[in-house]
Amino acid sequence: MSAQVLIVGAGPVGLTLAAELARYGVAVRIVEKSAQRTDKSKALVLWSRTLELLARAGCSETFVAAGHKVLAANIVTGNKLIGHINISTVDSPFPYALMLPQSDTERLLEEHLLRQGVSLERQTELLSFSQTDQSVTSILRQADGSEETLATEWLVGCDGAHSTVRHGLGLSFLGDTLQSNWILADIHVKGFPFPDSEIATYWHEDGVLVVFPILPGRFRVIANIDLAAGSQPTEPSLEQVQAIMDRRGPGGMVASDPIWLAGFRINERKVADYRLGRVFVAGDAAHVHSPAGGQGMNTGMQDAFNLAWKLALVCRKNCADGKLLTSYSSERSAIGAQVLAAAGHLTAVAIMKNHAAQTVRNLVGHFMLGFAPVRTAIVNNMTEVSIGYGHSPLNGPSDSGLGAPVPGQRVAPLADRAPAGSGNSPRFVLFASPSSEVQRLIEEFPTLLDSQLRMPFKPDGLWLVRPDGYAACAVKAGEEQAIAEYLVSITGGN
Ligand SMILES: Cc1cc2nc3c(=O)[nH]c(=O)nc-3n(C[C@H](O)[C@H](O)[C@H](O)COP(=O)(O)OP(=O)(O)OC[C@H]3O[C@@H](n4cnc5c(N)ncnc54)[C@H](O)[C@@H]3O)c2cc1C
Repeated sequence: MSAQVLIVGAGPVGLTLAAELARYGVAVRIVEKSAQRTDKSKALVLWSRTLELLARAGCSETFVAAGHKVLAANIVTGNKLIGHINISTVDSPFPYALMLPQSDTERLLEEHLLRQGVSLERQTELLSFSQTDQSVTSILRQADGSEETLATEWLVGCDGAHSTVRHGLGLSFLGDTLQSNWILADIHVKGFPFPDSEIATYWHEDGVLVVFPILPGRFRVIANIDLAAGSQPTEPSLEQVQAIMDRRGPGGMVASDPIWLAGFRINERKVADYRLGRVFVAGDAAHVHSPAGGQGMNTGMQDAFNLAWKLALVCRKNCADGKLLTSYSSERSAIGAQVLAAAGHLTAVAIMKNHAAQTVRNLVGHFMLGFAPVRTAIVNNMTEVSIGYGHSPLNGPSDSGLGAPVPGQRVAPLADRAPAGSGNSPRFVLFASPSSEVQRLIEEFPTLLDSQLRMPFKPDGLWLVRPDGYAACAVKAGEEQAIAEYLVSITGGN
């Protein structure tokens, strides 16, 4: 079978997309220019929502088995605890942050992809492409230098911050490089004053120091540093890292055995549109931002989960691609903008210089984090379970009397039922009481609707939930016709 979709780039985002499309029976090729996967830990955290989506893909257990669970985050200044945020309170089957070096995340994704019957093609680089209304033609350079011309229905650029696909589309990567300078250290630490299932952020007058446990005894340390104007941050020495930990931390932490030391600057950039014709961008190709909050890779992987079921429906069923594929950009671009703003804000608060402003920050931070609803909101944002698509063009009818979940809102996975979108077909799920009308609806859309009903959230309600676990419609029981019209409107009824 010739490929319907070409995916460029085998970072976490390209691998996620390829595995999802393959799971849904779409013929894909995934090409990667580098000979080997990264050996760097880079993105360390898999958040609850990403794990829920990996569970739906049938592979979360391998990630959970390989990772290290973090249950709480602390903010400290001097010897004072500004706030303690209990991640384990999140309403998810995965009530923790799973620490896993990106190199392992990519390895596990590649193994999952192989199980779907797709091999990643390494040392294969996209050189250029062109598109018509019917197809995309890509020029690929193989390891031996030969060139291949490949025609596919769709092309997705998951090719990182310097994306060839984004450049080829002429999309502006709007934003800035921040002026702050940063160091990163993957090291062993003795004397960390919290349990190794907790993160510590130290707000100091010089700047911020964040210490994340990766495994018992192994930590990621990040700090901003002052440099002469015009200099770029370079790889720090272990002694420099130790000196920053001594000055900004509580004392007593001893660094050793570095695994990776690096200096970096933060880019905050994003494209306005994630799609042009038959070509999409996802992940770092579409948005880059501060690592504060650890959302970059998770946001990119969720771009892939969002696009995969829509593209699969279009590829498998020859659905009209209008509303379905347009919604990818509007939904994910809005999330990208929110993540970019939130990460930027978090960074600015952590590294503010003015002493008076720091005093106010510490007081207000302590006051606000004393409120349970504030802590809950922070946990829901961090773990990404609060992500939703309230303004999506895919949102269908909504009866205001029914309450949550409203269209666009996440539906928490049920412990005893397969999540929406699992299996080998991207099906919507009905949360409804059994009736002959509901049964007729299922029979009318045998390939679009899961035949198994879930309990409605209220007895007199009928919810349609998308294959990625977000509510699409919320109507009164008996209004099955509204659901039928909705399904026809987004898929052409195929
Ligand atoms: C130091 C550091 C720390 C980070 N910390 C965090 C964190 O804590 N949390 C977090 O969420 N994120 C973090 N990130 C960001 C995270 O690493 C990225 O968001 C993530 O890697 C993006 O995945 P991606 O698949 O979109 O792109 P990438 O991982 O960049 O993958 C793109 C792939 O495309 C390939 N490619 C490029 N051009 C072509 C071409 N023309 N043809 C074929 N292949 C091509 C590249 O070789 C690459 O393998 C960090 C990043 C860095 C550098």
